[in-house]
Amino acid sequence: MTQIEAGGNDRVAALTYRDAGGRTHRIAAKAVVVAGGAVETPKLLLLSRGRHAPEGLANETGLVGKHFMETLFWSSSGLHPGPLGSNRGLPSDGVCWDFNAPDAIPA
Ligand SMILES: Cc1cc2nc3c(=O)[nH]c(=O)nc-3n(C[C@H](O)[C@H](O)[C@H](O)COP(=O)(O)OP(=O)(O)OC[C@H]3O[C@@H](n4cnc5c(N)ncnc54)[C@H](O)[C@@H]3O)c2cc1C
Repeated sequence: MTQIEAGGNDRVAALTYRDAGGRTHRIAAKAVVVAGGAVETPKLLLLSRGRHAPEGLANETGLVGKHFMETLFWSSSGLHPGPLGSNRGLPSDGVCWDFNAPDAIPA
């Protein structure tokens, strides 16, 4: 899907998509489910500008595509030549909130 077209009644009217050959098609739609993931969904909404949605679809607040927060994850592991009994005891991990914007919590 490349664009969702808003109608004049605050409803969607149509969508466009590109087929495998690169040809663009437009089909009328009464409803569209947008579930393109955290990046592609706002991208599609912002690309869906038109007469009835000058700032992009569902973007009357101007907040679509803003305040995205990624949760970074780092994992390290190693191999030990001897048995460590790592199945015993409590699993432990650490969380660092130092860079949590906008209110970082210093350790
Ligand atoms: C490496 C990795 C590991 C993960 N591991 C876990 C885990 O262990 N447990 C867990 O709970 N979660 C995990 N997640 C997170 C989980 O995968 C996502 O939260 C979940 O898939 C989001 O689902 P979604 O349906 O919103 O989007 P997605 O699953 O991302 O689906 C979006 C779909 O929309 C399609 N699309 C995008 N743009 C368009 C467009 N313009 N037109 C048509 N189609 C479009 C995409 O091709 C895709 O198929 C992991 C994510 C990653 C990247």
